[in-house]
Amino acid sequence: MTLIADNLQVVHDRMTAAALAAGRDPESIRLLAVSKTFATEAILEAIQAGQKAFGENYLQEALDKISVVETMTDKMPIEWHFIGPIQSNKTRQIAEHFDWVHTVDRIKIAQRLSEQRPEALPALNICLQVNISAEDSKSGLSPEQVAALAHDVACLPRLHLRGLMAIPAISDDSEEQRSAFRQLRLLEQQLQHEGLMLDTLSMGMSADMAAAIAEGATIVRIGTAIFGRR
Ligand SMILES: *Cc1c(COP(=O)(O)O)cnc(C)c1O
Repeated sequence: MTLIADNLQVVHDRMTAAALAAGRDPESIRLLAVSKTFATEAILEAIQAGQKAFGENYLQEALDKISVVETMTDKMPIEWHFIGPIQSNKTRQIAEHFDWVHTVDRIKIAQRLSEQRPEALPALNICLQVNISAEDSKSGLSPEQVAALAHDVACLPRLHLRGLMAIPAISDDSEEQRSAFRQLRLLEQQLQHEGLMLDTLSMGMSADMAAAIAEGATIVRIGTAIFGRR
């Protein structure tokens, strides 16, 4: 096995252990491989090992890699997730080349993505990014702003609102990690009670995936543990 294949196996094993410890079905949690800054060869290696969903943060870098991967893997169903900050002049290319966007936090961006999503493609899957630890440096909605934007985004015709995403403040205390993820889950439950059909909590990275899974993550976004240090 290659190192990346090995690492993927280790991550899957950690995910399964965390799911079972939480009394959850391991199949209910998906692994998003975050390949930002790594070469296309690393993505191809992960695909060889069975990985199908990739997260990228920087648009131009992502577009270059997507075009190479698509020609090399022909009709394989690879999923591309945009997980970086979005500038409004970049929405067209995001709408054209990605399957998911995890980082929507403004109605203007959502409207542009909906208008620019090509007719031939299914609706673009969307998560709203929540600044759950209220860090000044982080993008994302404050928890108080989420419901209003969620109801607006749910009405946009070419978007499919799937759920919420967060990048909590770094902590090595697992209780602190869990409390941030729990807030995101409670926020999603509140939206579900208001009638929104949400099925996704995008939370958990290499250092805190177990806490995220314990609190209900359905997508974990893992970079370092698969591809190595950036
Ligand atoms: C880089 C990144 C990740 C992956 O982080 P690791 O700590 O390398 O697993 C996950 N989510 C987002 C939004 C990122 O930018």
